[in-house]
Amino acid sequence: MDWSWERIPSEFLVTNVRLCRQGVLGRRRGFLHVRKGRLEALGVGAPTLEGIPVLDAGGLVCAPGLVDLHAHFREPGFEEKETIATGSRAAAAGGFTAVVTMPDTDPTIDNSGMVRYLIDRGREAGLCRIYPTGAISPGRKGEAMTEFGDMVAAGAVGFTDESHPVTNGNLLGNALKYAAMLGVPIITHPEDQSISGRGVMHGGYWATRLGLPGMSRAAEDAALFRDIELARAAKGHLHVAHVSTKGAVGIIRRAKDEGIHVTAAATPHHFSLDHARCRDYSPLFKTNPPLRETDDLNAIAEGLADGTIDAIATDHAPHTATEKEYQFDQAPFGVIGLETALAVGITWLVRSGLLDLGQLIACLSERPARALNLPVGKLEEGAEADFVLIDPDRTWTVASGSFQSRSANSPYLGETLTGKVTATFLRGRLTWRDEADSESR
Ligand SMILES: [Zn+2]
Repeated sequence: MDWSWERIPSEFLVTNVRLCRQGVLGRRRGFLHVRKGRLEALGVGAPTLEGIPVLDAGGLVCAPGLVDLHAHFREPGFEEKETIATGSRAAAAGGFTAVVTMPDTDPTIDNSGMVRYLIDRGREAGLCRIYPTGAISPGRKGEAMTEFGDMVAAGAVGFTDESHPVTNGNLLGNALKYAAMLGVPIITHPEDQSISGRGVMHGGYWATRLGLPGMSRAAEDAALFRDIELARAAKGHLHVAHVSTKGAVGIIRRAKDEGIHVTAAATPHHFSLDHARCRDYSPLFKTNPPLRETDDLNAIAEGLADGTIDAIATDHAPHTATEKEYQFDQAPFGVIGLETALAVGITWLVRSGLLDLGQLIACLSERPARALNLPVGKLEEGAEADFVLIDPDRTWTVASGSFQSRSANSPYLGETLTGKVTATFLRGRLTWRDEADSESR
């Protein structure tokens, strides 16, 4: 890519790009015209404007800024794992310009003041849009309901007690009703803990072989059945986080067919890695829900292809190196994912022919934005200029030193992936530029 200027001017053209819009990657080269943080114009061919600085992108793919529906930025309370600033940097490096954050901080995001605090800290960092979710119950204790109206007025985009499942069905039913009145979803982590018990990985061959307690698929499927029936009764919007079983994909497909307002997301690790990865007892593969079996991975890929699963969301869950050196059964659940999501999608879904690149990008931009009603994720005239430039063919090896995140607990360490974010722009400002790109071109 030809970076002919060091500072990004307030008006510029990006030329020689393949535009990705509405899930379709254009064949012909095109351009973007950015002016004062907005997309003034875009289209195929070459622009006829003169006297405006030009960035020749050399044929890179130009896509909407990516949108993540599920990240744990850990601030306040766990700043040794991640902060809003480092999480935002990881997001920008991964091509994300909008991130929905989870409320499981300390203190919990369970009131309007905390929602405002997150949004303000996100603005200070200035690298991505932060859309906070609030907790359903104070302290995520599952006992009473928080003040949904106040939090939505402050900017909350949904409610969840992630990663605690709400066991009190009456509370969840009421939450679905109130959230529906406010036009926002309840995000569920479907897990019946009376079934998953003390499981630390998927309940299957490898759990037995390794002598570790397993979490049955039934824990997810049974909880999801209940949540969907509650959404049906409440006429509410249920958003299902991190779908991991083939059963859950089927349940969601049927619920959608029946007209229930349900949306869903799956993580990159749940369509790319299976439970055999746990065979060396490495906690880097310990997640909740757990890595499952080939059938489940295939069902998730099919669900993304046919739209049953609306979006790919990272469940970016940073943990310190020390915590991930514990024994498998002692280590915390969770992996980071913002900086590898796009490449994992290209490597596992696009290269295998399960999705084309346009569909994959839609799963990471327009579709998540639509699922949660966020005013982002589109490349169109007049929209704010949030976009990414992607080299879909470049291969790179994931190394622990390469992360912008404060943590490096990635299950892809040492893995060679295809596809790299070359540059990320938020409101027309550069938030990430890949250094290897500037060296190699
Ligand atoms: Zn969860």
